[in-house]
Amino acid sequence: MEMRADLLIVGAGMVGSALALALQNSGLEVLLLDGSPLSVKPFDEQAPFEPRVSALSAASQRILEHLGVWDGIVSRRSSPYTDMHVWDGSGTGQIHFSATSVHAEVLGHIVENRVVQDALLDRLHDCDLGLLANARLERMRRSGDDWLLTLADGRTLRAPLVIAADGANSAVRRLTGVATREWDYMHHAIVTSVRSSKPHQMTAWQRFTDNGPLAFLPLERDGQQDWCSIVWSTTPSEAERLMALDDEGFCKALERAFEGCLGTVLRVDPRLCVPLRQRHAKRYVAEGLALIGDAAHTIHPLAGQGVNLGFLDAAVLAEVLLQAAARGERLADVKVLSRYERRRMPHNLALMAAMEGLERLFQADPLPVRWLRNTGLKMVDQMPEAKALFVREALGLIGDLPALAKA
Ligand SMILES: Cc1cc2nc3c(=O)[nH]c(=O)nc-3n(C[C@H](O)[C@H](O)[C@H](O)COP(=O)(O)OP(=O)(O)OC[C@H]3O[C@@H](n4cnc5c(N)ncnc54)[C@H](O)[C@@H]3O)c2cc1C
Repeated sequence: MEMRADLLIVGAGMVGSALALALQNSGLEVLLLDGSPLSVKPFDEQAPFEPRVSALSAASQRILEHLGVWDGIVSRRSSPYTDMHVWDGSGTGQIHFSATSVHAEVLGHIVENRVVQDALLDRLHDCDLGLLANARLERMRRSGDDWLLTLADGRTLRAPLVIAADGANSAVRRLTGVATREWDYMHHAIVTSVRSSKPHQMTAWQRFTDNGPLAFLPLERDGQQDWCSIVWSTTPSEAERLMALDDEGFCKALERAFEGCLGTVLRVDPRLCVPLRQRHAKRYVAEGLALIGDAAHTIHPLAGQGVNLGFLDAAVLAEVLLQAAARGERLADVKVLSRYERRRMPHNLALMAAMEGLERLFQADPLPVRWLRNTGLKMVDQMPEAKALFVREALGLIGDLPALAKA
């Protein structure tokens, strides 16, 4: 049996789900499909933290509030942070950012990806949106003015417009031949949660070590501030060595790498190791096709911006489609879809380039570069206006914002 829709979203991860919710009540027949079961687990407050977390910006918070998802996140578990402290492990340069510098209450929230995903799915299950679980896309081709998609179980779907929200290894991108520019960071990220002897003080900490950035992101449970999510980016061989250590050895290595900044590392949860690759699609759109989120771009986690960029993609694309529908335009028209690309690509590219530059700057070892970078950090730390600009950028409140990201 063949199913038809006006618009098919492939991938019900955080970004695809947000887009589907942004298009509810549009009058469009939207079908959201995912290869996974899309089930929501009852939330257990005492459960260990999930290893994958995201630092959600104020812009993402606003989008999720408008979509009716934010309450579902806060009622589960979220950890606000007010400050950020960054320093160079091979020098004395450091910089501190604070929410108070821009009269904001917080810089953002650290939220487990599972929590965001479950809150989104709760809303989706409440809405009148077509949701197809266990639907893995295997093939797709043009059929007249439509796309014809074939799932792993043989079902077929037809629509004039397909949105790829199927993540970094996007099947849609591969099957439609969208070219990417990609390069290996030669970094793996070890992610897990750790308990430390000193409280995190609602601060996101980032130390640039010789091998890559190490972040301690504050987590909160029962008002306690002794757990952090860590993202430790390092060379593949060092990551392999660290993954092979027992828990006690790993805690000691982590404490050393973090200069004991939060005291003793007392406990570590199971660790995950993720290879890091930067990827950017050369075009986000084609006739009847648009790419959003990690399907369009993946960025080094040092920025903590991946899903924030994805939520902005979803909000802008929804805005473009709703405006075009109101004008009676054909949504699959590449001219319509290009409006989304024009608004998002320059911003995403600029951020990716900035992160790439930062990553290289902190990897550089020659003495003059180290001196410059430490002096630069100290100088910027004394410049409140420059810091406030950076904070506003991190909050996601600068630039061409879609209505969903506005207060
Ligand atoms: C170590 C690490 C730390 C990070 N920290 C942060 C952070 O602090 N802040 C931040 O903003 N971002 C962070 N990110 C990035 C963030 O996790 C990603 O940007 C985000 O998960 C992308 O969401 P997405 O919905 O685009 O893709 P995904 O989450 O990958 O979702 C894709 C969905 O598509 C489905 N799918 C895939 N293939 C198919 C198929 N063939 N058929 C049907 N369905 C399919 C999958 O099941 C999945 O549900 C981090 C990333 C890493 C690696």
